[in-house]
Amino acid sequence: MTAEVRMERMTQNEVGEAISQDRLVIIPTGATEAHGPHMPTDTDTHQAGHIALLLAKRIGAVVAPTINYGISKTFENFPGTISLSIPLYQDLVYEVGSALVKSGFRKILILNGNRPNGTANDAVARRLQDDLDEEKSFVVTALSYWEPGALAVHALRKSEVGGMGHAGEYETSFQLAVRPELVHMDRLKGVYAPLVGWDLVAPMVPVRTYGRRPRPAKGHAAIFGNPHVASAESGKAFIKVTVDALEELMNNIQPSYEERNSGQKK
Ligand SMILES: [Zn+2]
Repeated sequence: MTAEVRMERMTQNEVGEAISQDRLVIIPTGATEAHGPHMPTDTDTHQAGHIALLLAKRIGAVVAPTINYGISKTFENFPGTISLSIPLYQDLVYEVGSALVKSGFRKILILNGNRPNGTANDAVARRLQDDLDEEKSFVVTALSYWEPGALAVHALRKSEVGGMGHAGEYETSFQLAVRPELVHMDRLKGVYAPLVGWDLVAPMVPVRTYGRRPRPAKGHAAIFGNPHVASAESGKAFIKVTVDALEELMNNIQPSYEERNSGQKK
């Protein structure tokens, strides 16, 4: 087994070997969007890919290239945001998933890092089954990386509820922990962002309610939450409990992957 888990750095034969070993493949889904005056536009893409890598090493999975464009309608008028329409985004994730299934992978995890992609990914997972289950036996799970560990993250937070929205405490701490050279905390001086009513990242209660979306005007900081309390130390702790919870969840559901796949056609 090669130590490399990133598909883009593996040869075709190494990927073939991963398929014959029946390893799970993770498709990270991110975004390219404004993340406040202090963080890079690839924050969600980086975080989905980074968590995928940490998780893959623990559970023996491989990681497909991260999808780096997502649904970013809220910030579409901000420099640096490149948002896809929902149907195009879903087709993109669908085509990637379909290619992986057709190449022989039988266990797939779509791991999301940009909130609006989340429910779109659920529908893609369903569609993959609807279209391919006659010819292929496989299992696909869709979730956002912060979901299983949300309560553990909440226990470690410094901000109030609402502080872990877009570019808030969680994401800023994450970047400070992993890529501090790309975070400009000094540029947050005097910047106070509105808190939304609940946390967009790691909400304690999963929310599937859609209202009129916020329309940040020119001059808005492109932050919803509180990045001021962020620290590298918190980031390391958030990442640890996040990956612990994902590992536990995947270990719990993998036996059902085996059951569903056993005795069926490859
Ligand atoms: Zn983000």
